[in-house]
Amino acid sequence: MPELPELEAHAGRLRDGWAGHTLSGFRPFSFAVMKTVIPDPNEGVGRPLSTVGRRGKYLIANFDGVVFVVHLMQGGRLRATAPASGPKAPRGALARWGFDGADDWTLTEAGKERRVGVWVFDRRNGPSTAEAELFADLGPDADTLDARGLGERLRSRSGRLHNVLRDQRVVAGLGRRLANDLCHVARLSPFAPTGRLTDDEVKRVHLALGDLLQRDLAFEVTQAELVNTAKRPTNVHRRAGEPCPTCGEPIREVAYRSYVVNYCPTCQTDGRILADNTTSKFLK
Ligand SMILES: [Zn+2]
Repeated sequence: MPELPELEAHAGRLRDGWAGHTLSGFRPFSFAVMKTVIPDPNEGVGRPLSTVGRRGKYLIANFDGVVFVVHLMQGGRLRATAPASGPKAPRGALARWGFDGADDWTLTEAGKERRVGVWVFDRRNGPSTAEAELFADLGPDADTLDARGLGERLRSRSGRLHNVLRDQRVVAGLGRRLANDLCHVARLSPFAPTGRLTDDEVKRVHLALGDLLQRDLAFEVTQAELVNTAKRPTNVHRRAGEPCPTCGEPIREVAYRSYVVNYCPTCQTDGRILADNTTSKFLK
């Protein structure tokens, strides 16, 4: 799943390439993709794209007050495609935005999960309460917190560090890859209980977060598109068996059905091998 740096860079690409261009049409190709009914998305037609931003893992395209919010979930992509006409959906497309004098945006989703969503909100007469509701449970964006704020957020929910980092209600924008690498750079066990993090440990998480966001954003801005996770820089994420970049010992993993926790025992757990004895490997 794209995380904060990828989406930040992608919002920048969309903004730089399309800001000022007028929306000439919007067409959803699936009922399921639309998460709102009012306002009609066609209210945005004829309005110029003011900006594209991001909140957590949501992309936010503002057409002069008519706002499209897109969540790409696991396999969604919002790509530039050659301008199309007519109602025919490109293969795998869930929705398409047309522009005057610029390429289309086409929303696709890999796999069969159909979880990608598009919301439309109306800010023409001030802030939208429906939009505020969508984001009501979302924690602050990970790149907006100082060390003290991050510590307060992490300690507010007791759990394993790796899980709490990925909980969007605690901190928004982090996923599996950043959680794995964050714990490694901070030299903390992914299973460390957040309720017992010391101030020094929180400082290490905060420093690691800043370094990793910077590393990732520097990479992402060199890319023309949202690339697959496998192409992104990682320390330990999905590198089980490879040498730890810090100490050279083999990286370990704890496998769950839908994700993998990677860590270096030497750097993170005083040599202990982690095993998940709270849940069966295939139940979580
Ligand atoms: Zn190591």
